Amino acid sequence: MTSLMVFTRDLRIDDNPALCAAAADGPISCVFVMDDQIVNASTASPRRQAFLQQCLGDLSNSLEELGAGLEVISGNWSEQVQKRAHELQATSVHISDDYSSYAKRRLDHLENWCVSQNIEFQRHPGVTALPPGDIQPAGGGEYKVFTPYWRSWLQAPKRPTLSPPNCLVSIDSVSTSSIPQSSRQIEKLRTDLVGGETHGLERLKQWLQTGVNRYEEDRDIPSTDGTSLLSPYLHFGCISPLRLVESSSNVPGSEAFIRQVAWRDFYSQILNSRPDASRHDYRNRGDEWDYDDDVYKSWVDGTTGFPLVDAGMRQLQAEGLMHNRVRMVTSSFLIKNLHHDWRLGADYFMSQLIDGDVASNYLNWQWVAGTGTDNNPHRVLNPTTQAKRFDNDAKYIRRWIPELSHQSAIDAVNPSIAVRQETGYPLPIVDHHESVEIFKGRRLANATKKRS
Ligand SMILES: Cc1cc2nc3c(=O)[nH]c(=O)nc-3n(C[C@H](O)[C@H](O)[C@H](O)COP(=O)(O)OP(=O)(O)OC[C@H]3O[C@@H](n4cnc5c(N)ncnc54)[C@H](O)[C@@H]3O)c2cc1C
Repeated sequence: MTSLMVFTRDLRIDDNPALCAAAADGPISCVFVMDDQIVNASTASPRRQAFLQQCLGDLSNSLEELGAGLEVISGNWSEQVQKRAHELQATSVHISDDYSSYAKRRLDHLENWCVSQNIEFQRHPGVTALPPGDIQPAGGGEYKVFTPYWRSWLQAPKRPTLSPPNCLVSIDSVSTSSIPQSSRQIEKLRTDLVGGETHGLERLKQWLQTGVNRYEEDRDIPSTDGTSLLSPYLHFGCISPLRLVESSSNVPGSEAFIRQVAWRDFYSQILNSRPDASRHDYRNRGDEWDYDDDVYKSWVDGTTGFPLVDAGMRQLQAEGLMHNRVRMVTSSFLIKNLHHDWRLGADYFMSQLIDGDVASNYLNWQWVAGTGTDNNPHRVLNPTTQAKRFDNDAKYIRRWIPELSHQSAIDAVNPSIAVRQETGYPLPIVDHHESVEIFKGRRLANATKKRS
């Protein structure tokens, strides 16, 4: 018996059901394929790639300590996995289940091949805390609204978490794997953000000791360290989402935090049922979009003249990160003030974010666009009101917009024409109320056209 453990978005040894099952089958070989199609996609992010390479280095060290190696291969994902299974004469292949349309295609293709070769193929949970389909609304299908999902999610029985295997019997000679570098430029990450399970678990421990108790109060204030910054670790599976929920659940004040982790599961179960939701309206509103190069570029570059929008977009370019509240404001602005397609903005976010994740990114964009799971298709976030509410001391705005860094909080949050002329900070690209009225009018007209 020889099993092949194929790592994907589960780059950890703790609470990894696929790894434990592969180890229980007998001698194993561990592989990760750097998928050409993902690495070369237009939405690939050099920073996400850099983080992934750190994750693989850390995983390789952990596996070596257990007695196995990690082979990292580059190329066509299916071909490379099949080649490895063939070389090993593997009797079983173990892998974590995943839910985007591309992940599903890859998995189905591999499964069919394994069946044709008489190799046992097993998909395991672990990418989400609760696998999609474990809970369903009374009528079946996916939950379309978060609150009832959250109620069932809290009560649903969860699988027991698993410790790392004590040791692994490897069929390969253990050697330090060389992690292929991407041919694209690898950008520097924030120094406090290092990929891998070791750093992820350390960050989680710190967060539970000193951060989570203030989460409810601080989570919407972008200038504070009010959120966990665990999303890149969750995206690559350096931390088990179920372990995270388990270890947070007895910590005072953690319910609001766990609720956000459930949002991640919520979007995965939507994508599982509707894999096309990364490209198509989940609820079709019949929208017709504008496109203007200069307007789009001013959004990307953070020169729209709306300070909170510009601060967020400049943070995204500089760090590959953006606070959740500001993600909502910047995305709402592109869609509802500038009338540009949510897919365009979502693809741009993907090309920048370290935590860029198909389910969380595209379905949050759809939520903001009103084409997703938000029941109110007309919700608009006024960037100036949002700045007054969540950045009223302008710490965040002044950190990211040098032109405004020496202004008073009032002038930085809502600069007058005189301040703009004096500092060179641009005039607003649109009138907020006017542009929103146009958006609403067009959406109503398109909905009427669709019905008739
Ligand atoms: C337009 C838009 C795009 C987004 N794109 C992504 C993305 O590509 N990848 C991503 O992980 N998150 C995305 N989010 C959700 C959210 O902004 C990030 O998860 C969060 O900012 C990450 O910071 P944190 O780890 O400090 O979060 P915390 O506030 O500490 O939350 C803990 C964890 O809960 C999950 N979570 C929190 N909020 C959400 C949410 N709204 N939806 C789904 N999961 C959530 C994340 O895994 C996060 O790490 C997006 C939100 C918006 C509005």
